[in-house]
Amino acid sequence: MREFVFVGQPARVVFAVGSLRRLAREVEAIGARRALVLCTPQQADVAQAASDLLGPASAGVFSGAEMHVPIEAARRARQHASEVGADCAVAIGGGSTVGLGKAIALESGLPIIAVPTTYAGSEMTPIYGITEAGVKKTGRELRVLPRTVLYDPELSQHLPVPMSVVSGINAIAHAAEGLYAQDGNPVMSMMAQEGIRALAQGLRAVRRSPGDMAARSDCLYGAWLCGSVLGHVGMALHHKLCHTLGGSFELPHAQTHTVVLPHALAYNAAAAPQAMVRIAAAVGAPDAATGLFDLARELGAPTALREIGMPREGLQRALELALANPYWNPRPLQADALARLLDDAWAGVRPQ
Ligand code: NAD
Repeated sequence: MREFVFVGQPARVVFAVGSLRRLAREVEAIGARRALVLCTPQQADVAQAASDLLGPASAGVFSGAEMHVPIEAARRARQHASEVGADCAVAIGGGSTVGLGKAIALESGLPIIAVPTTYAGSEMTPIYGITEAGVKKTGRELRVLPRTVLYDPELSQHLPVPMSVVSGINAIAHAAEGLYAQDGNPVMSMMAQEGIRALAQGLRAVRRSPGDMAARSDCLYGAWLCGSVLGHVGMALHHKLCHTLGGSFELPHAQTHTVVLPHALAYNAAAAPQAMVRIAAAVGAPDAATGLFDLARELGAPTALREIGMPREGLQRALELALANPYWNPRPLQADALARLLDDAWAGVRPQ
């Protein structure tokens, strides 16, 4: 019999090509008057355009967002926001920039408007991460959840195809694990399946034609759904492995998700058969794990950890870390099977 608990999270989502032009109205709608625009140094031009759209409601641009949200960057941003009297922050960029907004909100409660330009999905979650002395601490706090999210497919139009692909598969990973989450529910499962479907379709079309706005729109729509799943339900083995590999071996975030996902799904397949059926259907393949491996290969993404900088001699350490403080997982963690998983992911073997 069905049994679940569903807790919705408050967020206003505005989705439209050109929605960035509604930014000033959205700032006003949350009762703010001075919005500080956050970005990475690479995205200073789009942040400046957003600041220009805000006119007198802009408190300027802070272009100090960095990967993994170092505590020093968070402190600089918090201080700058307070010096310029910002009463809201607009985070325009990928997961790193949204993460910087969350780090400000965590301390000050400043409301965040997120304008995502990748498919990572952080904008829909109350999860934050801050790196101090080389260690990334993560937590869940409703006050960091962006109040409003503006999805504008035009902004991801120039996201390079290789990055679009791995970013999109990173999003698919949230949905795939959401389908077998311990605290899963039917609403999130519907969103997860539809999110994977939209991303698989959108990424194939983006690879053919990177500027195709309908394809970009499909990808961003999928990213919204998959990010929502990440925000609402718990993750399992796949996310634990990726955090371990990313945190301890400095592997690139989205590429690591892309390589590991088919192997984590193969590991969990027998323990979560209904989730696998839904993932396979969404990808349009007979099997979830091989379907995602083939999708990554078709899209030209990396399929082996050795391709993205993982040293073979680090695998044993990665295994030990993955077994320490494990997340809940549908299949119990078995050291020998996990060692095989890591070996296969390192070599890029197509899962069975
Ligand atoms: P990112 O934010 O680190 O961006 C990577 C680079 O791409 C940056 O230089 C950025 O300026 C550039 N970029 C972004 N959008 C672009 C565009 N449209 N065109 C050209 N360049 C663009 O990468 P990401 O994959 O979006 O985010 C990864 C980070 O987000 C990781 O640290 C991860 O832990 C975090 N994350 C957090 C959550 C959460 O819920 N807290 C969820 C997913 C990811």
